[in-house]
Amino acid sequence: MNSINEIFPEITQPKKIVITMHQKPDGDAMGSTLGLYHFLTQFGHEATVISPTNWADFLNWMPGVNGVIDYEKETAKSNALIETADWIFCLDFNTMSRTKKMESALLAAAATKILIDHHQQPQTTVFHYGVSDTSKSSTAEMVYDFIYNTGFDSKINNEISQCLYAGVMTDTGSFRFPSTSADVHKMVSDLIGRGLQHSKIHENLFDNFSENRLRFIGNTLLNRMQVFYEYNTALIAITQADLIKYDIKTGDTEGLVNYPLSIEGIKMAAIIIDRGEERKCSFRSKGNFDVNTFARNYFDGGGHYNAAGGQSKEALEMVMEKFITSMKLHKEELSSYQF
Ligand code: 5GP
Ligand code: MN
Repeated sequence: MNSINEIFPEITQPKKIVITMHQKPDGDAMGSTLGLYHFLTQFGHEATVISPTNWADFLNWMPGVNGVIDYEKETAKSNALIETADWIFCLDFNTMSRTKKMESALLAAAATKILIDHHQQPQTTVFHYGVSDTSKSSTAEMVYDFIYNTGFDSKINNEISQCLYAGVMTDTGSFRFPSTSADVHKMVSDLIGRGLQHSKIHENLFDNFSENRLRFIGNTLLNRMQVFYEYNTALIAITQADLIKYDIKTGDTEGLVNYPLSIEGIKMAAIIIDRGEERKCSFRSKGNFDVNTFARNYFDGGGHYNAAGGQSKEALEMVMEKFITSMKLHKEELSSYQF
């Protein structure tokens, strides 16, 4: 993979561009892709954002989201765009398998593939150009850097600001994770200086849920959470019946995995959700427990040191058992609390 700086001379020459992200996009995936979209279209590029799957309703306020194509719903149209693209930007993921059903079309495409991502262990052989930096808070921060490095920061408008702010805010847990560097605050300062209304964005993302979702969280914390104090670990497991009973939609479970970390001493939290077609796992940790490696080793996943995910095709009870067995293998690391 060559440096992304090598594409800068081409930025001003109109092209057909596809911008894509990981399946079930979060605030950073959608915010960074749309932020880049609003930048590139100012040069006359024909750009389209494609999501591998559907996304949470709480992202639907984002400027430009109405033009985002859901690959699963509009597969033929998406494939035509992917096939004819000159450039394909891949944002907020670094292994093609994270694009699910889109993977084969992306791999077969003749386009120049460009990576902008902050996850660990990138599949560098499939990208021609790119930047991969695990020290970055979010892909949105990296898109901001990209815009600055091209020398066209004068193009940062309110649409770009809103999208990038949403990405950096969600990926830093509202500016509290250790990844919230001085550069992140400088970026936010710059965006607010340009007129960004930041509180409205927080409200759009976090105060737009249904009553059902809050009652579902209540039930989950009361009845679906196990705490293993000996291991400073907590596990939440959600059945398909729970999802149906509370009418839980894509995005409604986002952030749930963080709740157990507010219990004193808890160092690792996990959630396993029975989504029917697979069991989706999320892992979060504090301090020196590496959930990226944990997710990679036991749950066919990956991510960051303190936030990772994975999946399994086995039954929920089996996945829970696998989690408990795997946790027990790490007793020493988990029982010593160290930041
Ligand atoms: P979440 O738990 O919120 O789905 O994901 C946490 C982090 O891990 C995100 O940065 C996400 O991109 C990454 N991640 C989640 N699931 C997977 C997975 O199955 N494979 C890989 N490689 N990364 C994942
Ligand atoms: Mn991200």
